[in-house]
Amino acid sequence: MRRPLVAGNWKMYKSAAEAGTLARAIASLLSRDCETVEVVLCPPFTSLQAVREALAGSPIALGAQNMHWESEGAFTGEISPQMILTTGCSYIILGHSERRQYFAETDEQVNRKLKAALRAGLSPIVCVGETLEQREAGQIETVVLGQVRAALQGVSEPELLKMALAYEPVWAIGTGRTATPAQAEEVHGLIRSSLRQHYGEGVAGALRIQYGGSVKPENAAELFTQQNIDGGLIGGAALKADSFAAIVRAAC
Ligand code: PEP
Repeated sequence: MRRPLVAGNWKMYKSAAEAGTLARAIASLLSRDCETVEVVLCPPFTSLQAVREALAGSPIALGAQNMHWESEGAFTGEISPQMILTTGCSYIILGHSERRQYFAETDEQVNRKLKAALRAGLSPIVCVGETLEQREAGQIETVVLGQVRAALQGVSEPELLKMALAYEPVWAIGTGRTATPAQAEEVHGLIRSSLRQHYGEGVAGALRIQYGGSVKPENAAELFTQQNIDGGLIGGAALKADSFAAIVRAAC
């Protein structure tokens, strides 16, 4: 039985003070229920400290949204896995489509980041997903499974159990256009079959695959009850405490 994982990706929103307030509100709304769900908040780097303090004593975990693969060096503007660990993060989002799209992040870089994150002891959430053009050209399987294979290259089976995947169709991110539960489940099933083929039932049965793309309180329950969907990566709806808490409850 896989424990659902619901993570809020706050992207480049919220000052440190606002982030602390939002994290406190979420922790308070979720204080009495939903132990069956693992919850993670991923604010911008500048708010990690404030959110860490706000979450003290709460089971909600902290995550970051990106990192470099090197431990240190002359990489202006970058943050290393070790630096992220010192902020209290246990999770790291890697390969988000906005990073692939706007910062030209490649599959090879995602793979280097994944290996570095695992070496450092972080739990990575690796995002994959096709564009609308690729979907309409019948390339879902090639693109998504290709991204999964490239990201996981050289990662050992025990390490795979420390990470999660997030299927996020690019056309559904921030657009209000969610994949239907059937559309999402179809791709999640393809990913799980591919994991089964490459790594066997142990990894395929245990690795969590989140869905992301315009998840809201109104559509979360139906998405999360699909057999191969293990919670969600939530963008816009994670910026309001009540809607994020409602989404977490939908995974309980
Ligand atoms: C995301 O940023 O990962 C995401 C899924 O965003 P949204 O929920 O706003 O579509």
